[in-house]
Amino acid sequence: MRLRKIAGADQRVADHARVLRGEARGQNWLTHLAQDRPVYLEIGMGKGDFILAMAPKYPQWVFLGLEKYSSVLLKALEKYDCLEEKRENLWFLWEDAQSLSEVFPAQSIAGLYLNFSDPWPKARYAKRRLTSPAFLDLYYRLLKPGARLEFKTDNQALFQFSLDSINEHPNFDLSQVYWDLHSQVDPAENVMTEYERKFSDLGHPIYKLIAVRK
Ligand code: SAH
Repeated sequence: MRLRKIAGADQRVADHARVLRGEARGQNWLTHLAQDRPVYLEIGMGKGDFILAMAPKYPQWVFLGLEKYSSVLLKALEKYDCLEEKRENLWFLWEDAQSLSEVFPAQSIAGLYLNFSDPWPKARYAKRRLTSPAFLDLYYRLLKPGARLEFKTDNQALFQFSLDSINEHPNFDLSQVYWDLHSQVDPAENVMTEYERKFSDLGHPIYKLIAVRK
């Protein structure tokens, strides 16, 4: 998602009370924040529709939304600020997924969501896909044993790449695969993302996989 750069976005994101910035986090930041609750992370949350809907649905969990572009993250923060009831279990991170291992301790995450990740269709950029083998290695380090990775997309090539990448990875088991999610699950069980709404309105089938970290 590329938005036109919003003037002042960097500063507004950096100053926002719900954004956890590197230097301010300090040691054991996640333990303090989670207080024994399981922590769920969405990487590339865009404008935040999914995580803003998940936080009230699962109030006993802690949600972290990670986004690398401040102008996009700012949209999620504006939505957060408009909530009637402030969510105490929702936080935001302004980071690139590449730096996750510096942000999170090993085995600290109970579940990971990747929704409509950038497809990077050219083979020479395959390493940038968030389901590439190198990213799976990184997720393996961060996830707790038995944690789930859930991935949704409308991009068939990226979906196939992701299935292969998980099937070939020694530390993940593929648990469920949906080739047309919306005809296979109860809508009440599926929290839609902004892109999911947009692409399903255009008639695209939505693909989903669930993998389990060994
Ligand atoms: N998850 C949202 C947005 C999908 S677009 C939805 O389903 O509606 C993909 C988003 O991932 C964009 O906002 C993009 O800026 C972000 N993104 C892509 N690569 C990233 C990375 N390496 N680290 C963090 N965010 C990333």
